[in-house]
Amino acid sequence: ELRVNKVLKKYAENIVLNEISLMISEVNVVAIIGPSGGGKSTFLRLLAGLEEYDGGNIMINEHNLSKDDLDSYRKKVGYVFQDNNLFPHLSVFKNISLVLEKVHDRPEKDNKDLIEGLLKQYGLLEHKDKYPHQISGGQAQRASIVRALAINPEILLLDEPTSALDPALTYEVLQSIKKLKDNNKDFIIVTHEIGFAKHIADHIVFIDNQKIIEHGSVDILNNPKTEELKKFLDKVL
Ligand code: ATP
Ligand code: MG
Repeated sequence: ELRVNKVLKKYAENIVLNEISLMISEVNVVAIIGPSGGGKSTFLRLLAGLEEYDGGNIMINEHNLSKDDLDSYRKKVGYVFQDNNLFPHLSVFKNISLVLEKVHDRPEKDNKDLIEGLLKQYGLLEHKDKYPHQISGGQAQRASIVRALAINPEILLLDEPTSALDPALTYEVLQSIKKLKDNNKDFIIVTHEIGFAKHIADHIVFIDNQKIIEHGSVDILNNPKTEELKKFLDKVL
């Protein structure tokens, strides 16, 4: 469950999210779309508990992000950045085991089966001992999805996970994201892949100009009600 109530976010005097509200009873798969600078990444960072907001309130499942201890909340959320963010000096395997150690306090020897199982599922087992610079951008992005998934998060947040990739690599990462849905993992993804969003999302949220202009089922992509969404879709399709 996601309840966003009149959330205000400012950087210095600049309003970046202007009293946005949103209520989604079952998150499943949410796609956030919209033009550059609209506030999508900022919204995702707030949902991750990475930043505080200046007004209103966010509830995710039973977590009240204004009141809960954000340090413990962050351990229940997986976050995938645009440019994978893997630790460059650690192997793929170590990247994941380190996060598990930090988040769940589990020593490396207890994590081997879990990590190898996930790497196998995402087609990365043969790369487990390689360093990030020794694998492709698509493989690195898939590794960062596995890393986020390994902590078994309540919810996974992905910020334009394919925007740094060429089309072939984009395809393989989108396949991995589809797998998240097949595994019934709740996730919220910021994406400019509108076709993909249409295919996979249960809810679409369109953010433009510091506000949620429209949200609803994928049907809003076929029948946009606002001029803003119409214009945006005309530009991207
Ligand atoms: P894009 O599609 O280009 O990634 P976006 O929708 O994700 O855009 P945000 O990154 O959320 O947009 O940025 C929204 C606004 O907030 C922009 O005007 C941006 O310059 C501003 N902004 C974002 N982060 C900061 C920050 N840390 N400090 C100051 N301003 C910021
Ligand atoms: Mg962004």
